[in-house]
Amino acid sequence: MRKLGFGLMRLPVIGEDKGNIDKEKVCRMVDLFIERGFQYFDTAWFYHEKCSELAAGECLSARYPRSAFYLADKMPLDLLESGDKPEDYFAKQLEKCRVEYFDYYLIHALKGAKLEKAEEFGLFEFLKAKKAEGKARNIGFSFHDSAEVLDDILTNHPEVDFVQLQINYLDWDSGSVQSEKVYKTARKHGKDIIIMEPVKGGTLASLPEKAEVLLKSASPSMTPAEWAIRFAAGLEGVIMVLSGMSTLEQVDENTSFMRDFHPLSDSETEMLFKAAEIIKDDARIGCTACRYCTDGCPASIPIPEYFALYNSDLGKYGIGRRSMDPASYAALSEGRGKASSCIECGQCEAICPQGLPIRELLKKVSSRFEE
Ligand code: SF4
Ligand code: SF4
Repeated sequence: MRKLGFGLMRLPVIGEDKGNIDKEKVCRMVDLFIERGFQYFDTAWFYHEKCSELAAGECLSARYPRSAFYLADKMPLDLLESGDKPEDYFAKQLEKCRVEYFDYYLIHALKGAKLEKAEEFGLFEFLKAKKAEGKARNIGFSFHDSAEVLDDILTNHPEVDFVQLQINYLDWDSGSVQSEKVYKTARKHGKDIIIMEPVKGGTLASLPEKAEVLLKSASPSMTPAEWAIRFAAGLEGVIMVLSGMSTLEQVDENTSFMRDFHPLSDSETEMLFKAAEIIKDDARIGCTACRYCTDGCPASIPIPEYFALYNSDLGKYGIGRRSMDPASYAALSEGRGKASSCIECGQCEAICPQGLPIRELLKKVSSRFEE
């Protein structure tokens, strides 16, 4: 099986409604994907306001023989409420996807805090039973927590065949996503690995100029997305790398380089980690805490303190996500102006010796800590 999977979660839509999937376009994307020799599709109950599974049914299962593709779906753990039966969801999913069985079936988004709920609903036993019936050929879970929690789950549930992990080169050593640590934990337990978000939700498809120049110097023809996907797919034990494709061009690009996949060489991997350092540095705000900007601010915003917190939060929890520690920001903003209270008068920017676009940067602070 070729190692690129088609994630059905960022499909083209008509208008603004996420549930109004443009099936005509999706059919063309599916056709090109299959024509190029790829077979793996990944859907879930929640994707596209519960319409992704229907699109899988209409654009894939209804148009291709069952042997032409592998389909993965997931039990919506978050939705389960007292009295709910996992069986009812599973039956509905088969119906929506127009299939008799799933090739891969997962507990969706398992983490330590939800483990008790998964056990309460007997989801691991449920998965095992579905596998025995031939309705779920491979069983596993997608995972969002620490390596330690993963180790506990895999120790207690050796019956799973695979785990689906967030792995990308930028989060390889991140304190929150822990790509390297969770990868090594899954390997220690001998599990197959499916990778989600190898391009970090698109963040790694467009890089700061310095990082892009560095990667181009190593390989002029490789795109940033290709670097990211090839890194992920080259890791030992990885059986599939998912990409949530939105356009025919993306299907074309990704299938072009994954058709004759070869992993990154050692020197290419080294180069990629150098690029990761540049990306991390670039995302940090270069405030020197001189405080020239603070006295004149009519909104009493503690600008340098917010920037320092932002930088340290990036270091701890990674780029491109909301803070997992909003309490620090709440404490810092107590009795002072929040980042979102900036009235954009521009006084601070006129005085900042570093020439920082403070108004724009405060918006980043606000979306990281306030939303
Ligand atoms: S632009 Fe915003 S942060 Fe800068 S001085 Fe004006 S209110 Fe304060
Ligand atoms: S003036 Fe610029 S460098 Fe100085 S504290 Fe304010 S934002 Fe930071």
